[in-house]
Parts: sequence; structure tokens; C-alpha cells
Amino acid sequence: MTTATQTRGHGGHSHSHHHHDNVYLTSKNKNDAGVRITRIGLYSNLGMAIVKGAGGYAFNSQSMIADAWHSLTDLASDILTLATVSWSLKPPSDKFPMGFGKVESLGSLGVSSMLLFGGLFMCMNSCTSLYAHLFLDADAAAHLLEHSHGHSHGHSHSHGAEGPSLHAAWLAAGTVAVKEWLYHATMKVARERKSSVLASNAVHHRVDSLTGIVTLFAILGANFLQNAAFLDPVGGLLISLLVIRAGWGNTLSALYELADKGIDDEMRLSIRRQVTKGLAVVSEGHEVELRDVTGVKSGQNYLVDLELAVPNMWTVEDVRGVEDAVRTQVGAKVRGVRKVRVRFVPKEAAETFNEFIPGDVSQKSSPELEEAEHDHDHDHDSKGNGHHKSH
Ligand SMILES: [Zn+2]
Repeated sequence: MTTATQTRGHGGHSHSHHHHDNVYLTSKNKNDAGVRITRIGLYSNLGMAIVKGAGGYAFNSQSMIADAWHSLTDLASDILTLATVSWSLKPPSDKFPMGFGKVESLGSLGVSSMLLFGGLFMCMNSCTSLYAHLFLDADAAAHLLEHSHGHSHGHSHSHGAEGPSLHAAWLAAGTVAVKEWLYHATMKVARERKSSVLASNAVHHRVDSLTGIVTLFAILGANFLQNAAFLDPVGGLLISLLVIRAGWGNTLSALYELADKGIDDEMRLSIRRQVTKGLAVVSEGHEVELRDVTGVKSGQNYLVDLELAVPNMWTVEDVRGVEDAVRTQVGAKVRGVRKVRVRFVPKEAAETFNEFIPGDVSQKSSPELEEAEHDHDHDHDSKGNGHHKSH
């Protein structure tokens, strides 16, 4: 699959590009399904931009040339998706102990806000165009108010005076087919991975497919109907509303993810189920009680916290066995779980443990102050350390 894409990419792309050391395009994660489908989308968009540009020019279709530009801007969305997906797959480091999942949330914010603003822009354009069609012709406006029907007026000053060739319709239909396939293929991976950036990009493919349908009807209309120029802004307006809705929804969920909203109930339930299964393996597992499941989503990664209550007399060795079993089971069976942290509490204590430090933050000394103090007696190190301990 990957080699096929590569050759396709080379078909419309200069060879020299391949030798640039672009981490994302030559990434080792080529086999990752998310990376792969995004690369396919990227090369498709590139191919379509070229074909549409040439076709629009040859067949004299303004909307097709506009669509070619759109395909070029789609590349930005694909590259952003590819970069964030590859980056977010990197393992955690000392500097970033939580991994790079949030990079994906950021990418998702970028891709979906691109969609949102594209939709707003499209809405504005369609409204302006519709306004021009309806009201800049005084006769037509009067007619419209009487009959409330757009089709009654003879709209003589045709906007696409020359009219696109019918051949352009084939290209538009091809676009719809490719984009629709990309939508389904990308969405499938996005659902499996619970990847927000892939979902945002998939929605973008769907929007492009809808736009292609409008282009198709505009071309057909221009060939077979009298006042077809009307179809274009109306379709554009409807689609822009869909785009705004999708863009807004995805932007919101990206923001939630960035703000560390807790994991959803479905995820919680499946973790709970796997913990129970994991405990069944441990010899005294029935003594253990799962008190709490919390966690946050970080890109495709779920960082999970569990609270397990065990009998007071259990040793560190005992709880370690339990932790191993639970971690192995949850890590293996719940997709996306990348980190499981287990806190053990005595079973006799009824209330759940609160990790947050209560009280007024301002009363405590800040790290900067301590550090300054440390710097101060840096020249006599041993004394400084002793001093510190006495605090
Ligand atoms: Zn697009």
C-alpha cells in the first residue's frame, strides 16, 4: 500500500523532494495506519489539485479552478495531521514524561479550526453571492417578494457566461468518489484509535466530497438549466452550515482534550471490566476492591489512574502482584491505554483518597525562592545541604 502511494506521489511530484530530510514524510511510522491513511489523503489532494487545475483550465470551469486551489489548501491540513500523528507516537522522554499525545490535540485544534474558519468564510461568500443574485436585480427582487419563488425570474445576465464544458462533470464526480472513500477510510482508523486529529481530517474529506457534489450540480445545471448560477450559492450556503457545525464540534472537543477533561463513561466502564478480569487471575484478587477510575485523554493515548482498596495487612509484595496483573490486563485489552497508575488504599478507610493539596497556595514558599536560597550557599556545598535538611 505504502509503495503504491509513493509512486503515485512521485507521479505528480518532483523527485528531489524525496531527498529532503522531512521527518514526517520519511517517518519510520510508515506502517502506522493513521500515518498511512493521511499520506494517501495527502497524495490524493496533491493529485487532485493538479488534475483539477489542468481540467478546469481545459474545460473552462471557474468552479473547478477554484476547487483546485481548495485542494492545495487541503494539503496544509494533511501535513498538519501527518506531523501531529507521527509526533504524538513518540515515546515519553525525561522532559515530557506524559508523552506527546497533547501534540495531537493541538493538531486537532488546528485542523478543525481551519475547517471552522473555512466554513465561516464559505458562508460569507455564499451569502454575498446569494444577495447579489437575489437583490441586485431590482426586478427579480420584486418578483421574489411576490411569489417567494426564486425560479420565476429570467436572470438574464448569466454569471458564468461561457459555461463550463460537460467534461468537467466527470472530474467533479471523480473527486466526490475519491473524497468519499478517503472519508470512510480515515474515519475507520480515527474511530479505532480514538484519534481526534484523524477524525477532524476525515470530516474535512467528507466536506470536500459534499463540495464536489455542489460543483457537479453547478456544472450540470450550467449545461442544462437556464438560471443555474442560482444553484451554486444555495448549495454553498447549505454546505457551509454543515462545515461550521462539524468544525465547531471538533474544535470544542480538541479544546476539551487540551483542558484535560476526564475520560468518558464508555472508556471508564471498559477499564473497570478489564480490572475485574485482571483481578480474577490474582490468588487473593477477590479481596481487592476497585474504588475509582479516572484519567485523561492525550491524543490517542489514555493516561489512567486507578484506586484499589486492599486489606490493611497486605505487604508491598502483595500489592505489587496485584498491580502487575491489573496493568497487564488493562494495557493489553483496552485500546489506547498508555499509562496505568495504581494507588493502593487500605480497605478499612471508607473515603476515597484526594490527591489535591488542600489550603492556601500563597502561604508556601515558591520553588524560585528555595532555588535562590540554594544558589546562595552553593559555594559551600556540604554546609548548604545540611542547612536544607534542617528545614
Ligand atoms: Zn478541503
